[in-house]
Amino acid sequence: MNKLVIGNWKMHGSPADLWDLAHAVQRDGLACDAAVCVPFPLLPAAHSALQASPLRWGAQDCSVHAGGAHTGEVSAELIARLGARYVIVGHSERRVALGESDALVAEKAHRVLAAGMTPVVCIGETSAERDANETATVLKRQLAPLARVLGRALSAVVLAYEPVWSIGSGDAAAPGVIADTLGLIERTLHFQAGMHQGAMRVLYGGSVNPRNAAAIMACPGVDGVLVGGASLHPADFLDICRAAR
Ligand code: PGA
Repeated sequence: MNKLVIGNWKMHGSPADLWDLAHAVQRDGLACDAAVCVPFPLLPAAHSALQASPLRWGAQDCSVHAGGAHTGEVSAELIARLGARYVIVGHSERRVALGESDALVAEKAHRVLAAGMTPVVCIGETSAERDANETATVLKRQLAPLARVLGRALSAVVLAYEPVWSIGSGDAAAPGVIADTLGLIERTLHFQAGMHQGAMRVLYGGSVNPRNAAAIMACPGVDGVLVGGASLHPADFLDICRAAR
């Protein structure tokens, strides 16, 4: 399976930034599967700038509802119509700030799949949870509704292990920690959903940059990375994609 690099622009970026990235990809090529997840209003610009590019695009959230009277919400169906292939769901910034529950995240992943796109489901523990030896409990709790709601479709999900303490800190988890935690996730998926190793793509996210990307992607079980800050600079993003080879 090709490695997958997904950029998470969070609340940053502009149409001009998308064109810069498109031109950089056109000039340098893309070394692996890759996508950039942008704020909703940038999706039409992503469609214009990237439709002829191997770089895919996506959103960072969607409504749990398929449609109807939900002011301010954006359905997975509307996102799909703008050519998006991926939707991040359950990012820790939403779980923490907006109280998104494990069950809600699983329902959103279901909506994304139903709209024909790939959900990138984020899971991960806080530093307090890791310090209290609760990492396994937290990850099992986050994964359980996914297995229950999605059933066999779970293998179509991209899972992103993002330790909350690493996001935006400049401190990526050490390769040993990543390998151990991904092993734990793999055993949990086997127990909860009967999934075998390699049945779904698992990414690492948290302070990935061009200097640490190769070592992280060489970790056993890592199928790619979810990149925040470094994805805003085309040269860095493409360097990270090159590290995937
Ligand atoms: P970061 O963000 O790469 O800036 O740490 C990752 C993320 O939030 O997905």
